[in-house]
Amino acid sequence: MTSPNAQATLAQTLALAVEALRDVSDTPRLDAEILLAHALGWSRARVLARLQETIPDDALQAFRVLVLRRAACEPVAYLIGSKEFYGLEFFVDRRVLVPRPETETLIDAALEWARQRFSPHDTLLIADIGTGSGCIAVALAVHLPNAMIYATDLSSDALTVARQNVERHGVADRVVLLCGDLLAPLPQSVDLLVSNPPYTVLDAIDAGVRLHEPHLALDGGSDGLAIYRRLLAAAPQALRPGGALMLEIGATQAEAVTALARRAFPSAAVRVLRDLAGWDRVVTVLNVEC
Ligand code: GLN
Repeated sequence: MTSPNAQATLAQTLALAVEALRDVSDTPRLDAEILLAHALGWSRARVLARLQETIPDDALQAFRVLVLRRAACEPVAYLIGSKEFYGLEFFVDRRVLVPRPETETLIDAALEWARQRFSPHDTLLIADIGTGSGCIAVALAVHLPNAMIYATDLSSDALTVARQNVERHGVADRVVLLCGDLLAPLPQSVDLLVSNPPYTVLDAIDAGVRLHEPHLALDGGSDGLAIYRRLLAAAPQALRPGGALMLEIGATQAEAVTALARRAFPSAAVRVLRDLAGWDRVVTVLNVEC
């Protein structure tokens, strides 16, 4: 971004940043406002209410660095260390995938299933496989006070981030973090398995995502389905009779993942749910017999 003079207003500073971010972001104005608020230590609302004020030098320097990093495609969430998911704030950094709004479809489906099947007094056992930031496990724990949740991840770095989020939302007594591959760390079978596993073909995704987010959380192998194959092959042993499995999928993977799910659970009901943008997003497997 070009250098504004020392007396630049917030409005002028924002306008320059928007120009610098136009090519890398679909939401340059929003990104610039969030980053400026972060640099000032203010809320976005306060920034918007004071656009004609001048910006202090130290905040301007901090903002310039943030805009340069965003211009190199770094996600806003990493730059400010925070992302909202299902109405909750999560700490995030480059050790974990940034929570995506489409993953909220998985939370809606899991909450609906759990509330229909279990009374508030029953203990419900859930496993979140590949928990990353912990956003799925924490959102479920917050909304299902009767749930006990195992949250696994192969990355101990990711679990360090998940631990902060579990503690921040006061659910450390009901979310057990376990390090290991997929279902291997689970100490017992569960009622509900949920997962947003790595499902992308790395060469085919957005460069910004590939450059900055952890490949361990994204890489689904040469056809994007490698983790679903392993997860679905092992899932029948990890579920209680009558239990359910819910998997986030990529928008083009419904057919392939439902076929894998039907092979693993021949007598269960396998369905595909769409996200709010209308893309196929979640495969549900209900009433499993194990
Ligand atoms: N939704 C993510 C993306 O498209 C991928 C998440 C995943 O692989 N689980 O960038």
